[in-house]
Amino acid sequence: MSALSLQMPLVRLHQCRIPRVGPQRARALAAALADFLGLSDPQQVTVEDLLLYLPLRYEDRSHLARIVELRENMWASIEVVVRVTGSYAVKGGQLTIFELSATDETGQIRAFWWNRPWLEKALPRGARVILYGQWRYNAPRRCFEAENPDFEVLTEADDLAAAIHTGRRVPVYRKLGPFTTRPLRAILYHLVQPLTAESVPEMLPEETLRRLHLIPRHEALRRVHFPDEETPLEDYNEARSPAHRRLIFEEFLRLQLALGRRREERERSPKGPRIRVDDRIREIVRAILPFRLTEGQRHALREIVRDMCSSRPMNRLLQGDVGSGKTIVALLAMIVAVENGYQAALMVPTEILAEQHARNIKRLLAHTPYRVELLTGSLRNTEKRELHEALSRGEIQIVIGTHALIQEGVRFHNLGLVVIDEQHRFGVLQRAELIRRGYNPDVLVMTATPIPRSLAMTVYGDLDISIIRDLPPGRTPVRTFLRTEEARPAIYQFIATQVRAGRQVYIVYPLVEESEKMDLLNATQMAEHLQRVIFPEFRVGLLHGKMRPAEKDDVMRRFLAREIDILVATTVIEVGVDVPNATVMLIEHAERFGLAQLHQLRGRVGRGAAESYCILLAHDLATPEARERLRVMVETTDGFKIAEKDLEIRGPGELMGTRQSGAPIFRIAHLVRDQSLLELARREARFLLTRRSQLPELKALLDEIRRQPQYGLTSIG
Ligand code: ADP
Ligand code: MG
Repeated sequence: MSALSLQMPLVRLHQCRIPRVGPQRARALAAALADFLGLSDPQQVTVEDLLLYLPLRYEDRSHLARIVELRENMWASIEVVVRVTGSYAVKGGQLTIFELSATDETGQIRAFWWNRPWLEKALPRGARVILYGQWRYNAPRRCFEAENPDFEVLTEADDLAAAIHTGRRVPVYRKLGPFTTRPLRAILYHLVQPLTAESVPEMLPEETLRRLHLIPRHEALRRVHFPDEETPLEDYNEARSPAHRRLIFEEFLRLQLALGRRREERERSPKGPRIRVDDRIREIVRAILPFRLTEGQRHALREIVRDMCSSRPMNRLLQGDVGSGKTIVALLAMIVAVENGYQAALMVPTEILAEQHARNIKRLLAHTPYRVELLTGSLRNTEKRELHEALSRGEIQIVIGTHALIQEGVRFHNLGLVVIDEQHRFGVLQRAELIRRGYNPDVLVMTATPIPRSLAMTVYGDLDISIIRDLPPGRTPVRTFLRTEEARPAIYQFIATQVRAGRQVYIVYPLVEESEKMDLLNATQMAEHLQRVIFPEFRVGLLHGKMRPAEKDDVMRRFLAREIDILVATTVIEVGVDVPNATVMLIEHAERFGLAQLHQLRGRVGRGAAESYCILLAHDLATPEARERLRVMVETTDGFKIAEKDLEIRGPGELMGTRQSGAPIFRIAHLVRDQSLLELARREARFLLTRRSQLPELKALLDEIRRQPQYGLTSIG
């Protein structure tokens, strides 16, 4: 066997001489895991990645029960031989049941499954199987029975393998591509058995392990797949066994160390723009302001300007619910930069939003000498070239565009401030990236998808945070209703009333046009139908992501100018779009959208003084998560509460969006469930970084973190 190294590519797993793993299965496994991790290249997937594919749950098969030992409602595994099987239809053929009876030497049981006709083949008469489920006594049949139990068919070869799959606590895995729990269990068994302190280098300092009562890495990796007998199995199933704690802590610690490095790097980095604010600038800002700032806006602006004037470059996150008025705050910050002789860039996620911002900012700054330009992918090449040159000569003071703005190799004359608007997934643009391009501007990131402050502090540890908690005066909270198909005529009537009263309406669909998902209403067809059949007297417009930018811009402009009454759209309007006269947001197939998305969509209305409505039309409420999401939406309009709920429902990983590329940062850790470990890791990271010089062991870990692209440290020396 070639020595097992965790960094070995998984496609070479066959070289580890694992039974029944040849080159082909090794490749299939790597491909499946790459897919699961969101990596495009299976070659990148390592043995370690597989080891971090943790069981979904654990079962205690160390004591296989005998049938005589079963008691009412007991969860147990039994080993039996199938004696009789049969399938039959119920409820007029809508459902099928497959059932079997089986015996061991002490008695007989019954088991049945709904709608799994293929079990007839999988569980033939004479098969030896392990059944795991909850047993209930069926009095008429005078035996115990289980509904939909888990099962494993034992084969001849399993007598050898029996030690893996039965007679112990066993892991149960989520299916990974074509690999079901059983082959995964076998492969992982052979992988973790030989793990030693030599093959799995310990990354954490000895002293940390001791002080925090953490077990060594190799032991954690072994036990997390094949639990030890000392720890209660509930602890494993609730991810708080010593093995879990160790691995979760390590994940958090890596992130916290990375954040600590980023912070250090920022503190060292050369002075950003030199900004001063005097009465002249204050006067200009006052002249531009179209309204009085809210208390929250004023406070945020003060914090931002203070950062800009300080000797460190700004790295600030501005959180504020949808409609709280972040744009104007950003604009005023841009004015401050421009008045100090710098250029400012505003970057947004969609072209529609870029166009809207450009329109508004040009209007607000019409009486100033500044040149404001929109730079998007849809410009003609000659125009683009002209703008690029003007930017590099410093003739343009404010430039607005999509995220591509920075990436497209645009040269600035002296970029002083970058504002990133509506950033749900923070991390796409890092300071390091800007520095690599030769800029060291102040950076302001704005988001309407807030995260609870405590988490923000720990997860975005290198960002300062401002929060706008109030809304501009005169807003009434949007009223939200959950409706089903029966209500459609009434909803249409309500829309008609609103339009007649001079208001405008959004209707959002999940899809643009017919696709394989025939059961979903789509924007294009519905726009036609609504115009022709339902609302012939109103003007219905259509907006979706596949339209040309100029067309989109035109539709948005007409909606803003009230030349369109009802705008049928896909989620292209999700972020930022600001049309205060719109008062109704109807979301079709609301069950298909995530919480953050629903909240954003709802945020498109309630931006003016008139009462606004959000109607969630659900077509299918089958999943409990969907029901829960929609319930939350009806219950609250508070973006912070919604974000917290979203975290709870969706759990780990992606939500935080800290990931830039490479594998997810959190594979095991769950930000809500594991908050106390997160806090522990944060404190430990600070402690370790301050004592770095006395801790040579730390170097390997820091180097490794630096090499992993997902922490965004690659360009830090
Ligand atoms: P968001 O925070 O969602 O980006 P916007 O910046 O788009 O919100 O602002 C929402 C609307 O509120 C805009 O029409 C804007 O002009 C208006 N607005 C912002 N601040 C104020 C204020 N202090 N007083 C009145 N209206 C405001
Ligand atoms: Mg906005």
